[in-house]
Amino acid sequence: MRVSYETIENEIIFSIFSEKSDRRFNAKFGGHRQFRYKTTDGSTFPECHPDRIALVAIMNALPFVAEKLNLGWEVSTEFLKATKIISRIKVTSQGTGIQPKQRSNSGRHCLAFSGGADSTAALAVMPLNTEPVFMLRSKSKSRSLYDSNAALESCRQLSLLGFRVHKIESDFEFLRNPIGFPTDLSVSTPAILISESRDFETIAFGTILESTYGTSGKAYRNYTDSSHFRLWSTLFNAVGLGYSLPVAGVSEVGSSILCREHPIGRVHQSCIRGKWGKPCNNCWKCFRKITIAAALSNHEISDDIVEMIHKSKEVRIRLTEDKPIKHEGVLAYSLERCTGGGKEIDALRKLTRTDILDTGWMENWYGKSSELIDHSYREESATKLREILGEMDSHQILQLENWSNLDDSVRNQNLESFIDSLNG
Ligand SMILES: [Zn+2]
Repeated sequence: MRVSYETIENEIIFSIFSEKSDRRFNAKFGGHRQFRYKTTDGSTFPECHPDRIALVAIMNALPFVAEKLNLGWEVSTEFLKATKIISRIKVTSQGTGIQPKQRSNSGRHCLAFSGGADSTAALAVMPLNTEPVFMLRSKSKSRSLYDSNAALESCRQLSLLGFRVHKIESDFEFLRNPIGFPTDLSVSTPAILISESRDFETIAFGTILESTYGTSGKAYRNYTDSSHFRLWSTLFNAVGLGYSLPVAGVSEVGSSILCREHPIGRVHQSCIRGKWGKPCNNCWKCFRKITIAAALSNHEISDDIVEMIHKSKEVRIRLTEDKPIKHEGVLAYSLERCTGGGKEIDALRKLTRTDILDTGWMENWYGKSSELIDHSYREESATKLREILGEMDSHQILQLENWSNLDDSVRNQNLESFIDSLNG
């Protein structure tokens, strides 16, 4: 696969040409594709170091490359060497006559901002001069459900609060079929592309504990031992950018608490289908958020929650077909702390093990995660996290680090009972 780019006025356009092996690897990709980034205020697209442009190309093309990715421009020897961390494919370039990009010491940091609770929580614990970078998804007929209205309102409110917010439009999601981010860190590509012109030292993500440490799934993992961490921290480092996860030690429960307690929390909205202030109340995100909100406020399962399980096909599928349910522990936390709901909710309590699990740790901050916060503001963020959430004690840490949720016969039995409760 070969990739090249050109900057034209307010756009940077990447062109990808696939080879036979790529088409065998992924028939849907076709012979050639383009993806672009565009400033939303009409200004000229800023200059960017070739190594950083290469990182953007890799982030978006990686899943579609069979064997080799040839960058159609010169990069530094150091960067090319760093790409050897990608064991599945080989990266080559048109030359290596470029000096590597050294990390800046500007004291200026940015955050890949989505408008949701997790990236808002991250912003709340980062330095005050952090610049949120929002990726505005290009419109398309094939995506009828997504609505950027709420996220743009979040950006507007952050600007009113004095934050310098950047909005960059992109269509890179259309590389994938079905539509989606090529890699989970693709969300940061707009920030990478403007990082040189804004002199950013680091890029932060709103990745929370369940995703970082695996507890939204089957078992706890030590993230720094994972291939995901080795790959991306190495490549960020090679282009002179810190890779920072300020809320890696904060569970979805904790990020909801942060958004309730911190003044900037009110700018967020998790639902990406409804308009601002009017979440759709039909999607999986809405279901999770409404149950957490119930646990943190009136401690009662409302009729709306029960109704959503019956009316929303998406919610029902997530609850009955995912093994385990994504963020099942967070659901256990919420259901355990709420009364009522009737037989369906009782069966869901049993399925999510509210009778056995100790989920109190989800309210507090996991101190070990400070190693994932960039050193330049680690202490500042840790202080804020301790103040607002408090740190997990040794008992809580044990509960977290021993997390497991296996698809065994007991779970299957409880799942059958839950399905029966929905039908009967
Ligand atoms: Zn929704």
